[in-house]
Formats: sequence, C-alpha cells, structure tokens
Amino acid sequence: MASSNSKLERRELGNTGLKLSCVGFGASPLGNVFGPVSEEGANACVREAFRLGINFFDTSPYYGGTLSEKALGKALKALGAPRNEYIVATKCGRYVEGFDFSADRITRSIDESLERLQLDYVDILQCHDIEFGSLDQIVNETIPALQKLKEAGKIRFIGITGLPLGIFTYVLDRVPPSTVDVVLSYCHHSINDSTLEDIIPYLKSKGVGVISASPLSMGLLTESGPPQWHPASPELKAACQAAAAYCKEKGKNISKLALQYSLLNKDIASVLVGMNSVRQVEENVAAFTELAAAGIDKDTLSEVEAILKPVKNQSWPSGIQQS
Ligand code: NAD
Repeated sequence: MASSNSKLERRELGNTGLKLSCVGFGASPLGNVFGPVSEEGANACVREAFRLGINFFDTSPYYGGTLSEKALGKALKALGAPRNEYIVATKCGRYVEGFDFSADRITRSIDESLERLQLDYVDILQCHDIEFGSLDQIVNETIPALQKLKEAGKIRFIGITGLPLGIFTYVLDRVPPSTVDVVLSYCHHSINDSTLEDIIPYLKSKGVGVISASPLSMGLLTESGPPQWHPASPELKAACQAAAAYCKEKGKNISKLALQYSLLNKDIASVLVGMNSVRQVEENVAAFTELAAAGIDKDTLSEVEAILKPVKNQSWPSGIQQS
C-alpha cells in the first residue's frame, strides 16, 4: 500500500512544510452530494487514490450532513497506513443546520470531526465558506479560537475557504502574519474562470498556501453535466455543455483537459477534485501523468476557450452582504 513510488507530483503548501499531492481527493462526493456512493465504493476510491500517490484528502461536516467525514474516516482507517503518510483537511462553521462561526461552536466542532474521522488531529482545519458569516467575527473570534486548537494539538494548520476572492484579502489584511496558513478557493481556477490567478501574488507575499478546488467547476466541465443544485446561470451551464459536447465529438475528454489546465499553475499546491469512483480516481491521476509526459493539448484548449469566451470569469453570488 505504499504511495511513495507514485509519479504524482508533491508541492509545498505555503510555509506549512506540508507537501501535497498536486491532485487532491475532494471527499464531498462521499457525502452523496453528486449521487449515492456505497461504503465499499468509498473505501475503494480512497484505497486507489492512496495507492496511486494521492496523499491529500479534504472533507467537511457539511458534506452529506457529516456522512463524508464518517466515510472518509472509515476508508482511511482501512488503509492501515501510518498517520504521517496522509494529510487530512476538514472544516468548521458550516453545517446542514446552518452557519455558526462562534468560538464555542468551532471548539466543539473539531472534537465531533475528530470522532467521525477516527483521528487524533487533522492537518488543516478551515473555516468553511466564510462569506456566509461576519468576516469581522472570523478575524476577531473564529481564528483566535482556531489558534487555541492549534496549541492544543488538535489541528496543525488554519485555513479559510469560500467563493468570492475578496474575502481572503479582507481577512489576511486584518490578522497577524502567519496566523492563517492556507486558503482554499473553488471554481476560480478552471478553463471557464481563472480569476484566482489575480490574487496568487498577494497570497504568496503573505506566505499563505493555495489550494484550488473544483477544477471541473463542480460538474460543469463534465460530459454528464452539473448536478441539479448547481448555482451557475443557464447561459454558463449551456456554454460549458457546448464545450463538453464539442470535445466529445472530437474524441477528447473535457474533464481531463479541465483538470490539466488547473494543474499547470505550480503556485497551487493541490487541485482538489471530487471523485466518486475508482475509474474517476484513475482518470484524474492519469491526467497528471499524461500532462507531465506530453503537455496539454493546446489546440483543443484554445478551441474550448473560444467556446467559453462569452462566459469567461462569470461566477454567481455567494454569501451575505458584509456591513
Ligand atoms: P469538481 O469540479 O471536482 O467536480 C466534481 C464532479 O466531477 C463530481 O460529479 C465527480 O464525480 C465528477 N468527476 C470527477 N472526476 C471526473 C472525471 N475524471 N470524469 C468525469 N467526471 C468527473 O467539484 P467538487 O467536488 O465540488 O470539488 C472538489 C472538492 O473540493 C470537494 O469535494 C471539496 O472537498 C472541495 N471543495 C471545497 C469547497 C469549499 O470549501 N467551500 C467548495 C467546493 C469544493
């Protein structure tokens, strides 16, 4: 079960000293958010991911109402691998019942997560989708509470996640240096939206590690299309489906191209992809090995970029108005 022979590149995560596999395992599908996944199916996905060199696993108590954390915990335990061979990130503050970034809730939340994950500590604990809370509370109450958890040894590093990129600069401008170790951005570094690039120099100047999630834009850049709950506009959905259909007609795979596009930026320590089958794990690892060996298919990329040009960098609203 050793993952050390893998050709999957490992990249430094900011100043943490962690080296993440450039393809990371997004465990939200293990919470059945993209369709049902059995316990055996979840175990097989995680086993294959680890075998192929994926060492970074991301979850949240929110995914599937705690189901993702439980499924990931069982699957990691079944690996029987030494704890320092895999890196686990989970989140706090977002639950199926709603948002709560209070110090009290965050402090209870980590104990609940550790129990579900069957772990003594997590490598990264991230405040989940902070644009839905008060950013000043995140700065003044939540992050200080996370620092206490760090001192207690329950978490190694502190992260923040969310959709609008301005939330990251707002918080990082207001906390002492080296307080926030990691930023997890999603849906802003894929073929249809590359705005994460704009803030990478700022994040690097702060020594903050960058994780980019949802290279397939939460299913937009797949042949089967996004789930019903996807928040994109009909125009954006239609353009992505047109791009997927174009690739299919040419005998190309839009998901492979999209993941490879995201992997090109080496300032991103890990690209988190949601995977719910062994086949997807294998395809996503192969996307990197093919990229390393032969580079990206530039012609198809330019053609897809041309199809997506009218909707380039189009996003959707997320969160509450900050006062
Ligand atoms: P994604 O862009 O990775 O898309 C996932 C979808 O693509 C799923 O339906 C999956 O089955 C499918 N897929 C994966 N590989 C495929 C392949 N090779 N071919 C065809 N389809 C494929 O979106 P995501 O799952 O939302 O994001 C990845 C992970 O990032 C999440 O699981 C989560 O861990 C993390 N994330 C975090 C936040 C946050 O913190 N706010 C937000 C989004 C995602």
